[in-house]
Amino acid sequence: AKSLGGGTWRFFAADMRPRASQTAHLETELRGALSRREFVLHYQPQIDLRTQKVVGVEALLRWQHPQRGLLAPGSFLGLAEETGLILPINEWVLNEACRQGAAWEASGLGDLRVAVNMSPIQFKRQGVESLVKDALRASGMRPTSLELELTEGILLGHDEQIVKQMNVLRSLGVTLSVDDFGTGYSSLSYLRSFPLHRLKIDRSFVQDLGSDPSALAIVRTIIDLGHILHLQVLAEGVEAEHQLSLLRLEGCDEVQGYYFSRPIPADAFAVWMMQYVS
Ligand code: C2E
Ligand code: CA
Ligand code: CA
Ligand code: CA
Repeated sequence: AKSLGGGTWRFFAADMRPRASQTAHLETELRGALSRREFVLHYQPQIDLRTQKVVGVEALLRWQHPQRGLLAPGSFLGLAEETGLILPINEWVLNEACRQGAAWEASGLGDLRVAVNMSPIQFKRQGVESLVKDALRASGMRPTSLELELTEGILLGHDEQIVKQMNVLRSLGVTLSVDDFGTGYSSLSYLRSFPLHRLKIDRSFVQDLGSDPSALAIVRTIIDLGHILHLQVLAEGVEAEHQLSLLRLEGCDEVQGYYFSRPIPADAFAVWMMQYVS
């Protein structure tokens, strides 16, 4: 692994070797996982606080590992980024999310926005627009139903190329959100430079709502900031009623979290929707 490079590895070699070979093994498995169709997407609903309606879903990657069971992205995303495997994996995610979105649209489940997490290295490359165009064309999903979630790290550089790509995406009708807002960097100036639609308040702030006055202050500030900049604001990680009522009181637009549903497979989500609506 790259992190073992340099001159210091010898000191840790005895401890690290098992882990390093474990990593190498995981990498081999990860390389084959796409062709063996071991990746799946789970979906978590996003709810409009004014209408109570489900307005969207976030697609979250899972690896159905043959031995280890269902793996959350935390256990393999780092390696996927390091090896560049994240590029083909995320291309699959984009295509699969659009395919599923179009299928739900066709089945009359409702006008759902489908949000896909973009990897920083994928977005920094040229050609994201053509990946997105291809996924939309192949699936037939309406471009306005697709949302891409970007992290603050992608936006920090004020990169001209990235602004250009984002403008092309916007002209297609695709919407763009900032994920984990508030956790990355203190610079807010990028909010003015990019064609954004939504801020997603990180769940760490939502978690402490009600117990930590500073969390409430931060949430309130993000909501106000977003609205002043004509952005929608979604709060992530809502688990409890009191968080929900505080967010409603503060004028937050949308929420997402275990309080409504954990991320679940597509067919389970369709069932959940039917029960939620009725
Ligand atoms: P994220 O984009 O911030 O996604 C939200 C994470 O919070 C998800 O973890 C979700 O399961 C979890 N979550 C949602 N509601 C709650 C709640 O009420 N309470 C708590 N405690 N957790 C909640 P997950 O699925 O393990 O994903 C972790 C991260 O992996 C994501 O964070 C995202 O950064 C990344 N990721 C997921 N799917 C993809 C993907 O397709 N491509 C890329 N590049 N990254 C992905
Ligand atoms: Ca996300
Ligand atoms: Ca997030
Ligand atoms: Ca996160």
